[in-house]
Amino acid sequence: MAEARQPIAALVSLGCPKNLVDSERMLAGLALAGFAVTDSPDGADVAVVNTCAFIDLARAETDEAIEELEALKRAGRLGRIVVAGCMAQRDGRAVLARHAGVDAVAGLADRDALADVCRAILSPTAPLDPSARWVSAPTAQEMAHGAAVQENRRAKRGPVPIVQVGPFPADAPDDRERLRLTPRHYAYLRITEGCDNRCAYCAIPAIRGPLRSKPPDAVLAEAQELVADGARELVLVGQDTTAFGRDRGDGWNLARLLARLRRESVAAWIRLMYTHPASFTDDVIQELARGLPIVPYVDLPLQHVNDAILASMGRRITRAGVERLLGRLREAVPGIAIRTTFIVGYPGETGEAFEELADFVEKVRFDHVGVFVYSPEAGTRAAGLPDQVPPEVRRRRWDRLMRLLERLAHEAARRMVGRRLTVRVDGPAHAAGYLAARHGGQAPEVDPVVLLARGAAKPGDELTVRIVAAKGYDTVAAATDGDPEA
Ligand code: SF4
Repeated sequence: MAEARQPIAALVSLGCPKNLVDSERMLAGLALAGFAVTDSPDGADVAVVNTCAFIDLARAETDEAIEELEALKRAGRLGRIVVAGCMAQRDGRAVLARHAGVDAVAGLADRDALADVCRAILSPTAPLDPSARWVSAPTAQEMAHGAAVQENRRAKRGPVPIVQVGPFPADAPDDRERLRLTPRHYAYLRITEGCDNRCAYCAIPAIRGPLRSKPPDAVLAEAQELVADGARELVLVGQDTTAFGRDRGDGWNLARLLARLRRESVAAWIRLMYTHPASFTDDVIQELARGLPIVPYVDLPLQHVNDAILASMGRRITRAGVERLLGRLREAVPGIAIRTTFIVGYPGETGEAFEELADFVEKVRFDHVGVFVYSPEAGTRAAGLPDQVPPEVRRRRWDRLMRLLERLAHEAARRMVGRRLTVRVDGPAHAAGYLAARHGGQAPEVDPVVLLARGAAKPGDELTVRIVAAKGYDTVAAATDGDPEA
């Protein structure tokens, strides 16, 4: 008797590092369930797209990715399509209405049950539910919408889609046992899921749910698993990492967790991302100041510096508070690299408020800055505020700030020339002929890199280099003997 062919599942991962952690778990779940996993949907039996729904641009990218899969399916080169992740959670019903080729929608609670969903839609004998399966109790409006979609589908194509959008799980997800998508030598370590901050512009709490911190033992076990799997650098992520422990009520907080990871994780580098300025404590600053393995780096999204805007955003901090925090960080951790993000065109942002932000950016000189154009998100407080800034003005402000930041970043890269640093090699660079490496002040995937001549080293290698030139945002380095600067 011929052996049944192993079904092929492709995974398309979109969005931020937190989503990437989910993608890595999905891949492992599919592989453990007997699927051959791949990143190429062309020729796969089923493609799972792990989606992002953060802002309008992310949603547009997600729709585009789904459309590409639908085109493959129409051409007979892909079997089935499953939409998972944030967009499925936020807008699963609308995804089905927009994309007739989607066979299943699975929300965040079903991350670890994707193999079952895939099997159900692949098996011609599996009894597909006669009606879409709303795991959470649907509202009357959703029922009506869902029924309409199903009617439509029954008429056109036979089987109806599976819809699994459940309530948020009570605990943070267990992210152990992943098939990692990052290079072996670095890994994302999620310490919290969800967020309780309710910033006025942000839809994330509605998508990802309330704050849930992982148990410290689970964080440590995962850190050790990642290090045993070859990770030299652990990048701590969560919607708000400084909130770690607040929901547990057992005395754990981020500073204690960092101290424990320092003692017990055996990672060479530990990097702190996604902090909240209003929750940044002196204890955390002290942990940063104690040095490696915690790298002198912090990702500190500020979003704005004008007091009226900060208050309207609900950021719980003023410009003076931001300046004090930056001063404390720079004094306690000399040479610390600070990454931040800003939002331009938030409702009520006057021309003066925007100029205040631009002046601040020029004065403070962050190491790395990301800028988002404000996107009014359904269900958020900010979307209902008066004084919405016209889209073309938002865009102009973004252009203006990006030009300023580009100049500052190029100047900063030129100032690096002559420095001796320890870097870790990531792999081939976007610039042809180079390898990309990073020093402690550069996070993977979002920050500029140090370019090395190809052949000089292999991914994961740590070496001392001397910066010899600037190349736009990046720098070019040559391997050198001797110690890095202290
Ligand atoms: S801290 Fe604010 S911006 Fe960040 S995820 Fe929470 S609510 Fe959203």
